[in-house]
Amino acid sequence: MPTAIHSAPIDQRIEWLMELSRTHSALYCDPENSLARQRYLAEHPTRIIALKCMDGRIHLPYATKTPLGIVSPFRNLGGIFDLGWPYMGDLLESQVMEAIQQGHRVLIIITYHFSKGDRSRGCAGFNCDKDAAMAHAHQIREQVEAIFGHGHKTVYPLVCGFETDEDA
Ligand SMILES: [Zn+2]
Repeated sequence: MPTAIHSAPIDQRIEWLMELSRTHSALYCDPENSLARQRYLAEHPTRIIALKCMDGRIHLPYATKTPLGIVSPFRNLGGIFDLGWPYMGDLLESQVMEAIQQGHRVLIIITYHFSKGDRSRGCAGFNCDKDAAMAHAHQIREQVEAIFGHGHKTVYPLVCGFETDEDA
């Protein structure tokens, strides 16, 4: 994000965001990206699911250099999830089982985010407390292991922290 946009009036920032969204949408629908996505899925059989914060600062295709639409995201405030939630657990399980039944392994990326430059640009869902966000991610990892096993041969839960100042 260019620095100037941070200090621009709110209307301009909203328009900037809408424009970015339109660009992503057009890119996603472009035949070039659609074919790249299908080629990627054929070449890389592991299916990727990500649990992430809904604030939108983690852009996984950008951070992982994958075509748009490869990583299948689940979003919630602060990336706060409980796989015991009635619908949440079912949704994740059915997506994982569908992939497995088609012969795929599944990587579940459990994310949290923080800013190295300023604590206050961290995750609002955890009052910008990086350690709390990380601890929660590890709790979800344990839930995934309780559901899909500790061997990680088929479903691999991976905790990933994203530093949002540099998309690292
Ligand atoms: Zn967040």
